[in-house]
Amino acid sequence: MAKTTFVTKERLEEIAAEYPTPFHLYDERGIRETARALNKAFSWNAGFREYFAVKATPNPYIMKILTEEGCGFDCSSYTELLLSDRVGAKGGDIMFSSNETPDADFLLAAKLGAFINLDDFTHIEILDKLCGIPETIFCRYNPGGEFKGESGFVMDRPKDAKYGFTKEQLFEGYKLLRDKGAKKFGIHAFLASNTVTNGYYPALAKTLFETVVEIKDKIGVGMSYVNLSGGVGIAYGPDETPNDIAEIGRGVEKAFDEVMVPNGLGGVSIFTELGRFMLAPNGCLVTRAIREKHIYKEYVGVDACAANLMRPAMYKAYHHITVAGKENAPRDCKYDVVGGLCENNDKFAIDRMLPKIDAGDLLIIHDTGAHGFSMGYNYNGKLRSAELLLREDNSVKLIRRAETPEDYFATLEI
Ligand SMILES: *Cc1c(COP(=O)(O)O)cnc(C)c1O
Repeated sequence: MAKTTFVTKERLEEIAAEYPTPFHLYDERGIRETARALNKAFSWNAGFREYFAVKATPNPYIMKILTEEGCGFDCSSYTELLLSDRVGAKGGDIMFSSNETPDADFLLAAKLGAFINLDDFTHIEILDKLCGIPETIFCRYNPGGEFKGESGFVMDRPKDAKYGFTKEQLFEGYKLLRDKGAKKFGIHAFLASNTVTNGYYPALAKTLFETVVEIKDKIGVGMSYVNLSGGVGIAYGPDETPNDIAEIGRGVEKAFDEVMVPNGLGGVSIFTELGRFMLAPNGCLVTRAIREKHIYKEYVGVDACAANLMRPAMYKAYHHITVAGKENAPRDCKYDVVGGLCENNDKFAIDRMLPKIDAGDLLIIHDTGAHGFSMGYNYNGKLRSAELLLREDNSVKLIRRAETPEDYFATLEI
């Protein structure tokens, strides 16, 4: 039931004395432990590699930690490619999984020698005309219909998703790519987001492995890489059971042994592009209670807002909240915890039972390490917060300064 924090109230007050709230704080130890657990879970596959989804947490310090843990980077835009290049990623350290891709993005990915993962059949000709088909090429698969797990429950509806090739297009696509000179091939699919079941990756892997066998049998194209992409979720709610990555790794191994190995495909490398699983639990948004309001409901106003963390407003997502120093106090007050945007969906929590909150209390909003800061925006003239890294020696490093009004004005013509 209890969700723990990786930092004490005393340490947080020290940090907040130097870096004013709100800020995102990341836990280096947790990031390394998560990366090591993932690598261990897939160590049965000699070519395994995680390509961290840069969009989740695009910060060079985080990316350098992940590089040290053996990860590459999954990019989907021009600037994410630039960022990966800046932190030293080279060639096949970068996966480029983009959609509705502009020419300039394809050209930069090709120039960097990134693995290009095509989102659509028509992109084959486009890429060929732009800069030629590289020796190694990936295609993104969309099986259509409904994607079901082991017990038959529907995880998502790929038929409604804008991504990927149909199966027929895959056969045609790999043939065409081979004719145009491609030598090594990969397949990719992302069929469900934030899954809280150990069954997602194994079910996806089985689908992809069977497709790989079909492609080999039908058109004689042998796959070198199977990219399981993102989608392994985390337990945002205190009552949810976290995924067990070791169990997930074993599930994928079982499908590999059943489908790939007997078909002579035991040498194929598995890739992942996890963002949320890697970073979400290893970051939090720290904000201070600054106002209270008693009308038809009880409100606590904090100095962060949806511009610092969009998920609750955008997806009605649950993020657990701890009031620093009141971890063991009874949760006997019902609050809406709100930011200051002129939008009534700017609520970090609705009807949440929390300890009594006093002005000045520090609130820890959990699990914001992925798709948190990165989804930020400047609505209402709100400025992006700082990002801080709690190092393994318990020191704190500023890894992105907070925006200032000068940043806000920098792009304006006045
Ligand atoms: C967003 C995304 C990911 C990461 O997804 P998570 O849910 O954060 O694991 C991986 N690959 C692609 C192509 C994506 O768009």
